[in-house]
Amino acid sequence: MGTISGAARRRDNPIVCLADLATGAEIVSGATPVAEIDRVFRADRQLGSLVVQDDDDYFLLTREQVEFTLTGRLGYGRGLYARATARHMVPENSLALPGSMGLSKAAQRILKLPGNQRYRDVLVLTVDGPRVVSVSQIFERLSADFRHAALHDSLTGLPNRRQLTERGAATLDDAGDLSRFAVLYVDLDGFKAINDTFGHQIGDEILVSFAERLRQMVRPTDVLARLGGDEFAMLLVDVDADQLRAIADRIVLGSSVPFAADGHQLYVSASVGIAMTGDVAEEQQLSRLDALLRHADGAMIKAKQAGKRQVARLDGQGEAAPIVRNALIRRRLPAAFETNAFVLHYQPQLDLASGECSAVEALLRWTDPVLGSVSPAEFIPIMELSGDIHRIGRRVISQACAQAKLWLDAGTPRRVAVNVSPLQLAARTIVPELEAALERHGLPAHLIQVEITEGAAITDLPRAIGQLQRLRTAGVSIALDDYGTGFSSLALLRSLPLTAVKIDKTFIDTIDSSSAEALLVGGVIDTAHALGLTVTAEGVERPCQLELLRDLRCDTVQGYLISRPVAPEALPARWVD
Ligand code: C2E
Ligand code: MG
Ligand code: MG
Repeated sequence: MGTISGAARRRDNPIVCLADLATGAEIVSGATPVAEIDRVFRADRQLGSLVVQDDDDYFLLTREQVEFTLTGRLGYGRGLYARATARHMVPENSLALPGSMGLSKAAQRILKLPGNQRYRDVLVLTVDGPRVVSVSQIFERLSADFRHAALHDSLTGLPNRRQLTERGAATLDDAGDLSRFAVLYVDLDGFKAINDTFGHQIGDEILVSFAERLRQMVRPTDVLARLGGDEFAMLLVDVDADQLRAIADRIVLGSSVPFAADGHQLYVSASVGIAMTGDVAEEQQLSRLDALLRHADGAMIKAKQAGKRQVARLDGQGEAAPIVRNALIRRRLPAAFETNAFVLHYQPQLDLASGECSAVEALLRWTDPVLGSVSPAEFIPIMELSGDIHRIGRRVISQACAQAKLWLDAGTPRRVAVNVSPLQLAARTIVPELEAALERHGLPAHLIQVEITEGAAITDLPRAIGQLQRLRTAGVSIALDDYGTGFSSLALLRSLPLTAVKIDKTFIDTIDSSSAEALLVGGVIDTAHALGLTVTAEGVERPCQLELLRDLRCDTVQGYLISRPVAPEALPARWVD
């Protein structure tokens, strides 16, 4: 396995320059007598043009020009040119283009020519000397390239999603026995880390090598496509379940052989989801192929969730439904990012001592044209898996800072709490991103609070502590979210540089019906206070919960009783009982 360059290995790269298309031409000197030129053309009926060399300059002389000149002028041409040489016949402003010029640029130049000159052959000056290309060759090649580009992935040369869809639909229509039709969905594990660590060029090289390994596993009747990023799909005709499983196993195995790139031995693996026609119930809104793809995509997610580097297949609709929905959400995310379909709503936190709502929590909202409104509880975990969490995390921070600044400038300052995913902490991006956003928006740090979950802090405690400490130093406050759902360790409350604890809704739900639960919550509140932390109760829905929490000396409450999360302009300044 030698080192390869991404560009060098690009297969079937359709875009060529003029030099690739032009062919060698017969060269004659400018001093050649016209009679000789005439003879050359008469002797070879296939010859379309000659190149005339005049010192260091080259000109193109086409058969049409020669014939027009010699037979034109009422038949006096031959006589008139009896003593002339080739250089006299060269038309003025004949077009010569450099060999390195791309085809579409050349086409643009040709189209700018006066109409009668647009059909002539074109002289191409290459480092190896002059060559000739016909205009029709250029245009034919260009349209072939456009067709090719529309149906192929430019990095690997594999068919793209469009071709897969077109060929797949046609194959399915023609297939006699639908039960032997299958789709295989392949996604590399850990590819994002490679891209982030070694750069996109090496990432590209791995994709090209991986595509090559996959290419060797398909038969001519199958379609292998790159769907984008590190996702590939295979459409297999005429296989049974065992054969399909064997191919999928080979892909997983094949992906585990290290890739050599830029002197590194890089290890990745692949997760593969498989689906056969029999797995997929008829779905009205989807073509059979779409349904198969989505099913295989869902199975791929299952393989990832089961620990990656393996093959999965969904059994039965019971299991398929949520996973297929998950796959659909993932499929809709790029469009959501593109159209900026994510907005922040804000839920007020009522300060029980002052009666004011001067702090809010920012919560993501996404309404998709196909899926309707999707809960962050559903799409955040999917984004964590796809790596989109970093992108959305940056947007949330920036939008929250912008909104906090608007409130500050309007004379109604509110502290905004943003939820931060464990992965943002693990990627160590949160500190610089938040500092930059505060600076960009001119926002004092005390108007931002970061909410982390217990799980987040525990995965890598020393690293989490380091980053949170930096945020504290900068003036940002930090709340531990959903307290009570995870390990709920009091030791954690002590070791993390927190300012607040949010008690999870599951505890608050029962405090007004179970005295044991109320006692427990009271204990948490007292302990938190002893550690110098403030306490927020989440999910308060009933007045009696609020009263109990007041008795237990809880500091702030948040929940539908006060307000649901709402658009920023709809926020109440105070809570009116
Ligand atoms: P969370 O941070 O614990 O947010 C509180 C959730 O409880 C919100 O759900 C909120 O709408 C809901 N809630 C608040 N009061 C009540 C109540 O009285 N009754 C009931 N039944 N629910 C209440 P939401 O907006 O669906 O968010 C769910 C979770 O998604 C959040 O839980 C948070 O973990 C995550 N999330 C939301 N926005 C973001 C974000 O911008 N970034 C990240 N990383 N996660 C987010
Ligand atoms: Mg939260
Ligand atoms: Mg919470």
